Amino acid sequence: MNNAYFDFAEPKNEPVLNYAPGSNERKELQKAIAELKATKRDIPMYIDGEEVRSDIKVEIRPPHETAHLLGHYYESIEEHVHKAIDAALDAQDSWAAMNWEHRASIFIKAAELLATKYRYRMNAATMLGQSKNAFQAEIDSACELIDFLRFNVHFLSQIYKQQPLSSPGVNNRMEYRPLEGFVLAVTPFNFTAIGGNLAAAPAMCGNVVVWKPANTQIYSASVFMEIMIEAGLPAGVINIIYPPGPLVGEICFAHPDFAGIHFTGSTGVFQTMWKTIGNNIARYKTYPRIVGETGGKDFIFAHPSAMPEAVATGLARGAFEYQGQKCSAASRAYLPSNIAQEIIDMLVTEVKTMKMGIVDDFTNFINAVIDERSFNSITRYIDEVKNSNGAAKIICGGNYDKSKGYFIEPTIILTTDATYSTMCEEIFGPVLTIYTYDAENWIQMLDVLDNTSPYALTGSVFAQDRYAIEFMAKRLVNSAGNFYINDKPSGAVVGQQPFGGARASGTNDKAGSILNLYRWLSPRTIKETLVPPTNYRYPFHQE
Ligand code: NAD
Repeated sequence: MNNAYFDFAEPKNEPVLNYAPGSNERKELQKAIAELKATKRDIPMYIDGEEVRSDIKVEIRPPHETAHLLGHYYESIEEHVHKAIDAALDAQDSWAAMNWEHRASIFIKAAELLATKYRYRMNAATMLGQSKNAFQAEIDSACELIDFLRFNVHFLSQIYKQQPLSSPGVNNRMEYRPLEGFVLAVTPFNFTAIGGNLAAAPAMCGNVVVWKPANTQIYSASVFMEIMIEAGLPAGVINIIYPPGPLVGEICFAHPDFAGIHFTGSTGVFQTMWKTIGNNIARYKTYPRIVGETGGKDFIFAHPSAMPEAVATGLARGAFEYQGQKCSAASRAYLPSNIAQEIIDMLVTEVKTMKMGIVDDFTNFINAVIDERSFNSITRYIDEVKNSNGAAKIICGGNYDKSKGYFIEPTIILTTDATYSTMCEEIFGPVLTIYTYDAENWIQMLDVLDNTSPYALTGSVFAQDRYAIEFMAKRLVNSAGNFYINDKPSGAVVGQQPFGGARASGTNDKAGSILNLYRWLSPRTIKETLVPPTNYRYPFHQE
C-alpha cells in the first residue's frame, strides 16, 4: 500500500579520494587497472534486459597504449535500433506506473554501488578506455556520476511536491507524467558521468530510453549498465546500443513515438539533429524535447589588476587537464601588457614540468587524446601555426607522436591577431592560444572577446579590482553559461555550479540541476470540483 509522501533529502557531494602514494584507494585502483588489463572484455548491447551481439566485432584499445587490446564491442545495425525502440516502448507503461519511492531506490542504489563496490573498476575503465589520469577519472566516473544520481533523485522529489493552489470547493493537483514515447540519449566520449546521466535523468523521471554512447566511451559506459542492472533497473527502461551516429538518428528521428533527445557533443552534430527533427515534425505524436549541450571556446580574461600566479595556475589547470578535452577547457586567453610576460613565464615553466604518458603511471599529468581522428585534427592546428608567417608562434610544446598512443604535448601558442583561427575555433585538445592586449584598452578587449566565437559555454575573469569584476560580469553576461571569477573555467560540481552554455554551446538546460529534469516531464493538471454546479446561469444574468 502506498499511502505516504516519500522525500529524498538533499545529499552531500561525494568526497573526492586523492590517491596519494601509500593510500588504500591507490592500491585498490592499481589492482583494478591490472585486472582489466589482464582481461579481454566482451561488451554486448543491452536490449530489453538481454545481452545482444552482432556480427560486427570492434576492438577497444587504450588511446595511450594502442598495442594493447582491452576487449570488443559489437556494432549495432538497423535491426538493433528498431529492437531497442520497441523494447523501450514495451517497458513504458509498467515503468511509468512504478511508485516513485521504488523508481528512486534503483538510482540511489546505483549511486551506492558506484561509490563502494564498483568505484575502482569504474575509474579504471575510464582511465584505460578514455585515457584519464586517476584524479580526472575519480572526479568524473566516480564523484560526478554519483552526484548526478543522488542529486537528481532529490531534485525530482522537490518537483513532485510542487502543487497548485486550490480555491474553495475545488481540489487542484498536478501529476508529473513522463513523456509519451521514448527518449534518445546520444552521449560524448569525454565524460563517463555525462554518458550515464544523459540516460539516467530521463529514466528517473519515468521515461524509457535508447542510449547511444560515443564508441570511444563504450568501455566505461558498459560498466555503468552493469551497475544499473545490479541496482534493479527493469528490462527495457534503458537500452544501450552501438550503431554509427547517423544511423541512430535516421531511425529514431523518423519514429512517431520519438519524444525527446538528450544530447551532449559537438555543435555540428546537434544542429544536424535539430534540422532532421524539424523536417520530421509532423510525424511525431508529441512535440519532442530537444536538449543539447555542445561545443565551446572557453576563455580566460585577465584584467590589469589580476594576480599573475592565480592566472598562470588557472591557465595551466584549465587548459591542460584531461588534455584539454573538457568542453569547459580554457582555450583562449587575453592577458594585459602590464603582467602578460610574467604570467607567460610562470605558465611555460609550470607546463614544462607536466609529465606525459600512460595512465598506469600515476606521475603522468598528461595522457593521450582520445583517438586518431582527434589526434589528426588537433595536430593540423599545430602544423598551421608552425607554417604561419608570424601571426602566431608556439612558445611551449608543439611536438606529437602517435607511434604508441595519441600523444600531443601541452602546447601554448602566442598570437598577435585576436581573431587568429586558434582563438576562435574549438580544437578540443591540449592547445591554448594567448593574445596580449594593451592594458589600457581592457574594456574594448571585452567586446573583442564577446564577438570572437559563436560559443558561450564557460569563461573566467581574473582581477583584484572589484569595480572591474563587477563591470566584466555585466559586460560578459551572455558570453558564458558558466562564469568564473578568479578561478579556472572547468571543474563544475553537481549541485554547486549547474552546467551548460548558451548561443552555439547548447540549450542551456543545466545537467544535474532541477531545471534539466523539467524537460523530461509533461505535467497533467487535474481540477476536481467537489460539488458541481447544477445550473448554467451565473449571478450576472439575474435582472
Ligand atoms: P561528437 O559530436 O563527435 O559525438 C557525440 C555523440 O554524437 C557520439 O555518440 C557520436 O557517435 C554521435 N554522433 C555523431 N554524429 C552523429 C550523427 N550524425 N547523428 C547522431 N549522432 C551522431 O562529440 P564528441 O567528440 O564525442 O565530444 C566532444 C564534443 O562534445 C565537443 O564539441 C565538446 O565541446 C562537446 N561537449 C560539450 C559538453 C557540454 O556540456 N556543453 C560536454 C562534453 C562535451
